[in-house]
Amino acid sequence: MALTLKKRSKDMKTSSIINHYGEERETYLGPVAPPLFQTSNFCFRSAKELRKALHNEFSEPVYSRGNNPTVAILRKKVAALEGMSDCLVFASGSAAVTATVLSLLSSGDHIVSVKKPYAWVGYFFSEMLPRFGIGVSMVDGRDPGNFMKAIRPETKLIYLESPNSLTFEIQDIEAVANMASERNILTMIDNTYCTPLYQKPAGMGIDIVVHSASKYFSGHSDMVAGLVCSNDEIIQKVFVSGMMALGGIISPHDAWLMLRGLRTMPLRLEKSRQNAEALIRFLEGHARVERVIYPFSESFPQRELAAKQMKGANGLFTVVLKEPGKKSIDRLCESLEHFLLAVSWGGYESLVLPLDAVGSHEGMPAHAVRVYAGLEEAETLIGDFRQALDDY
Ligand SMILES: *Cc1c(COP(=O)(O)O)cnc(C)c1O
Repeated sequence: MALTLKKRSKDMKTSSIINHYGEERETYLGPVAPPLFQTSNFCFRSAKELRKALHNEFSEPVYSRGNNPTVAILRKKVAALEGMSDCLVFASGSAAVTATVLSLLSSGDHIVSVKKPYAWVGYFFSEMLPRFGIGVSMVDGRDPGNFMKAIRPETKLIYLESPNSLTFEIQDIEAVANMASERNILTMIDNTYCTPLYQKPAGMGIDIVVHSASKYFSGHSDMVAGLVCSNDEIIQKVFVSGMMALGGIISPHDAWLMLRGLRTMPLRLEKSRQNAEALIRFLEGHARVERVIYPFSESFPQRELAAKQMKGANGLFTVVLKEPGKKSIDRLCESLEHFLLAVSWGGYESLVLPLDAVGSHEGMPAHAVRVYAGLEEAETLIGDFRQALDDY
């Protein structure tokens, strides 16, 4: 067989993208694992070649802020997974969002965003952008009509995050995308929760997809990174402004780690989801549990929409407990032996986070814990919650 799958086709299987596509093995002596180009700059045989490359930093390796062959492999794979033309990789999910918005919008423009986006995106929207003359309206995204009502003549962008990672409200992606494209408004979504394996927003008409790759993409809780996928025109704009000028790029080494993480993303995501489902079945039957918030739970108010636009939910959910009896929510979290008390998710390890520790949004339930089911045995996780809830 050829050492590399060079051509991308519409029906390319996920495993072909993850295992082969974009590897350029012929170019690099046929390594099975991709080479790590840990270099800042690239040299040329002649001034003429250098000059030529400098005019095309988007495609030519000149300096690793713009182009690096290890990062280039990752870009191809992620774009193919999302079904979009191209991808840029940033030093964090936050950098991916902020660099993209700053590349595409100008003073006087307006954004309509779903309420309660990821906390630092929310800060960027409400505290930083107004300083540069960009207004942001936040709407309850459960009704697509709310986006329409908030649109102004100067609205340039609609920002979605579906589901969010605390209380999991979702937006009707297709309805919002259709309404926006009729009005020439760009749409952007944070697709971190689902990953492209469980939700492909481009197929529903979304223009820009962003991810925190610190979660399932890297998968081993050893790096922070972000991704932006879009069409060539938008990617070129973000490349020049958000990437070359603002400069918040990923290091070649972290890109290499993410490529390694990506190899097992389908397996990890599946196992984490199965563990979450098993744990949720146990928790929903427990006398001290009020309810579980999870997009595919029977009790989830938007379950039908979730099933329509998502292939699955992941390993992250929130459990709402009854009034504490003998011990507090904090004590409950501390008495779990197999769950680490930490932020983030998407790694191999199970985590808990008292929901009130991340701030108090309206509609946020009291006595709630966000749970991330990692890759342990389901019995281990269930047994642990059983013992911790025993004297709650
Ligand atoms: C973690 C996260 C982010 C922020 O990404 P960083 O890589 O931490 O900068 C944005 N959106 C969602 C949904 C996240 O979970």
